[in-house]
Amino acid sequence: MSPIAERQLYIYNSSSGLKEIFNPINNNKVGMYVCGPTVYNYVHLGNCRTFISFDIIYRYLTHIGYKVRYVRNITDAGHLENDASEGEDRIAKKARIEEIEPMEVVQKYTVDFHRTLAKFNTMPPSIEPTATGHIVEQIELVKQILDAGFAYEVEGSVYFDVLKFNESSKYGKLSGRKLEDMIHNTRETSGQSEKRNPQDFALWKKAQPEHIMRWPSHWGDGFPGWHLECTAMSTKYLGKKFDIHGGGIDLKFPHHECEIAQNEAIFNCCPANYWVHTNMLTLNGKKMAKSTGNNILPEEIFSGENEIMERPFSPIVTRFFMLQAHYRSVLDFSNDAMLASEKGFSKLMHGLSVLESLDTSKETIGFDVAKWKQKCYDAMNDDFNTPILIANLFDAVKFVQNINDGRSSVTKEDLDEIRLTLHNFVHDVLGLKQEEQKVDHYLENSINLLIELRNDARIRKDFATSDKIRDELAKSGILLQDSAQETTYKLKK
Ligand code: AMP
Ligand code: ZN
Repeated sequence: MSPIAERQLYIYNSSSGLKEIFNPINNNKVGMYVCGPTVYNYVHLGNCRTFISFDIIYRYLTHIGYKVRYVRNITDAGHLENDASEGEDRIAKKARIEEIEPMEVVQKYTVDFHRTLAKFNTMPPSIEPTATGHIVEQIELVKQILDAGFAYEVEGSVYFDVLKFNESSKYGKLSGRKLEDMIHNTRETSGQSEKRNPQDFALWKKAQPEHIMRWPSHWGDGFPGWHLECTAMSTKYLGKKFDIHGGGIDLKFPHHECEIAQNEAIFNCCPANYWVHTNMLTLNGKKMAKSTGNNILPEEIFSGENEIMERPFSPIVTRFFMLQAHYRSVLDFSNDAMLASEKGFSKLMHGLSVLESLDTSKETIGFDVAKWKQKCYDAMNDDFNTPILIANLFDAVKFVQNINDGRSSVTKEDLDEIRLTLHNFVHDVLGLKQEEQKVDHYLENSINLLIELRNDARIRKDFATSDKIRDELAKSGILLQDSAQETTYKLKK
């Protein structure tokens, strides 16, 4: 791997609206905070798109030599419902509906989240802190914001004073909104009448008697506001200012705007230098969302049990489908798109397997390996452009196919370089892998029948037929293995 200096990475900073050269605060160390899931329901494919996108960013930064501390939280308290639900905590609400403890809700959906992301071959973050594990830190932040004069207490709740903050700073700079144009924060409403201004947001909420998720504080029993947890956890693990802050584009306002306000109010600086926002996965042209029901769950894709698709698709093909779009573009999910992705993925994997058995020559004809490799890095250095990278990978696959067909040739050094580069990008950066070949019972029955016919031929001493069966099966990747007792088979990797 080349030193970092040779790889000039540009990241689209959604705060400036520009692609900016990536300069981390601490030389080769990168701090990255990504807002994690609210664990009150199964993650849908849209959520997965965002976490897969950050997995690619994490993998690529690591690949080019950075030591990355990747913090992704679990929101297990404090995320309030919208206006219609009168500001009830989503997890407490689910606990009430399912008649279980809030922490059982949290456990159930956190386990599902981890299992699902593991199927997609995403790497675990370096730290995965929870909101409930950081109540003390959040109470401390509320005190500091109060002391700094940017918050006020009303009847056991504490609110951030957006108008006061806006006098010395600019609320809305991330999302490009003007305070006067803003509508009130739709994420929480139960204490709306207590607020001095509708734009103010809750730092701490008084718990009503029926509220189960509650903690003692200076202001009485209550629970933290949603925006506060990310400030508490990012500061604790990455410092007051770190490199990259990420999440889906729907978090830009109000969540990230409020995080900036909290950070600036007490530390006098924006928490992150680069804001990275992923675009939405849509279904039928509309945003996939838990709340509207317009979504598909990963398990419904893997099992094929859904109304949208004709048959199941594997997690890795689904991952490949996501990577064929740039993370800042909207991506629409459909059966046809998945079929096309499956075809593309198997072409890529076939190219990799052909690569293993290629003959080399004295010269390389028709392919500039160094130029191709640079183009692969250029794509990723241009704001992690995975679709362009994949197009470049297919150029190499085409070349490999040409060599295999005798229409081109390659030297040993070039072949080694292509192998290494393809391996790096396909496996390490894109996180794709050859799927375990599964034999369904139809195929199994057919292979067993052919083994039986071959045995019959051998008994008849019809070796032409028995060899033909063995050789033709081998061509399809099914290798017969004869022993004294029986003939078995295995699939070629
Ligand atoms: P939530 O659990 O609702 O807080 O969402 C977890 C993450 O998924 C957040 O970063 C959201 O922005 C992101 N997200 C939600 N819906 C979608 C979608 N349809 N496409 C891509 N990302 C999404
Ligand atoms: Zn957050």
